[in-house]
Amino acid sequence: MDFNLPEELQLLKETLRRFVDKELIPLEREFRPEGEEMPERLLKPLQEKVKAMGLWMLDVPQEYGGAGLGLLARCVIQEEVSRTVVLPFRGSELFGHDVRPVLFHCNAEQKERFLKPVLQGEMRVCFAQTEPDAGSDPASIQTRAVRDGEHFVLNGTKRFISGAGRADYAQVMAVTDPEKRARGGITCFMVDMKSPGVILDRQWPTMMGDAPWQIVFDGARVPAANVIGKIGEGFSLAQQWIQDGRIKGHGARPVGIAQRALEMMMDYSRHRVTFGRPLAERQAVQFMIADSATELRAARLLVHECAWRHDGGEDVRNLSYMVKITSTEMASRVVDRAIKVHGGIGLTKDLPLEWWYRQVRSIRITEGATEVLRWRLAQNLLKGR
Ligand SMILES: Cc1cc2nc3c(=O)[nH]c(=O)nc-3n(C[C@H](O)[C@H](O)[C@H](O)COP(=O)(O)OP(=O)(O)OC[C@H]3O[C@@H](n4cnc5c(N)ncnc54)[C@H](O)[C@@H]3O)c2cc1C
Repeated sequence: MDFNLPEELQLLKETLRRFVDKELIPLEREFRPEGEEMPERLLKPLQEKVKAMGLWMLDVPQEYGGAGLGLLARCVIQEEVSRTVVLPFRGSELFGHDVRPVLFHCNAEQKERFLKPVLQGEMRVCFAQTEPDAGSDPASIQTRAVRDGEHFVLNGTKRFISGAGRADYAQVMAVTDPEKRARGGITCFMVDMKSPGVILDRQWPTMMGDAPWQIVFDGARVPAANVIGKIGEGFSLAQQWIQDGRIKGHGARPVGIAQRALEMMMDYSRHRVTFGRPLAERQAVQFMIADSATELRAARLLVHECAWRHDGGEDVRNLSYMVKITSTEMASRVVDRAIKVHGGIGLTKDLPLEWWYRQVRSIRITEGATEVLRWRLAQNLLKGR
């Protein structure tokens, strides 16, 4: 058994660490993306640098011009870039345009119409699954798609859809067979956001700076040629994509955040003197450092194991639940301790800690609340007993 990363990933990690320390962290004083995109003048030169490192379109297969990296490599990269707050928390385009894996299920004709323009940055797509009465339980979505000749007619409301305001198309999950629902009755449609009957209803500003959208479909007509995958296959396609994000975005990212918060906690505690001695000499502070380092190491190992097994073709559903629960809750505790050690300065916007505090709270809810994952995990474990 070898707990070290393979040599090439170790090198990748070190290269990324240097890049983040040298190129990204210094920008933190200049830019903090409270829900905004990074300005082109900052993003472009950084994109050129990562391209030169061969790190472009990381999850896109090489046949489409991407790096075709496995999940473990992407987790290593995600951890390192998460040590800075300079990149937008959701939808950072540092490594290329956001290509949702469901798009790889396009047929040849759809690849020309959807996948290629997305890869070239000419088209943006948002993912619309959540509804006012169906978030944690996407199998109970109500948006209906009813066939009418060569079209489907969509009616329903989607809530909390990130990036919908700037999207050209929405990848919409809708019920095509109310009897079957998640078992063959939910279909994925590419819906033109400019179609009649597609209404950007309102935005929901959040404590993380994001403002996802509510979209109403009022008799929107969608060509049958815009069904991604087979009719009734949408639910399982979406779950595959969400699992990938659960391991990388909700597993490796909190590990990177906690890593930097711990580094900051240690540096500050060695320099800050109270009652005549540095904070680092106080046992109460030492315990916070020791607990954070211990929990961080455990979470990182779990992320690596899960991603490695995923790359090897194993079913990692249960492990991915453990990853998200462990990493997001660990990062919340570590960031909270880091704020405590920094005292008043930790609460200010001069430091990244308060920003992380808000972000890590959000990922304990979005794309699968940790309570729901625990519940599902226990059900699966009990079933297998
Ligand atoms: C900023 C932001 C961006 C988002 N972006 C998108 C997007 O792009 N596309 C998209 O489709 N969705 C998106 N969402 C939706 C997000 O995934 C949902 O909010 C999330 O899945 C939770 O659903 P809900 O809000 O309906 O909470 P609910 O399902 O109502 O759950 C409320 C709480 O109840 C608890 N709970 C629920 N069920 C159980 C259970 N069985 N056992 C124990 N506890 C339970 C959980 O703690 C949960 O937090 C986004 C949300 C936000 C806030």
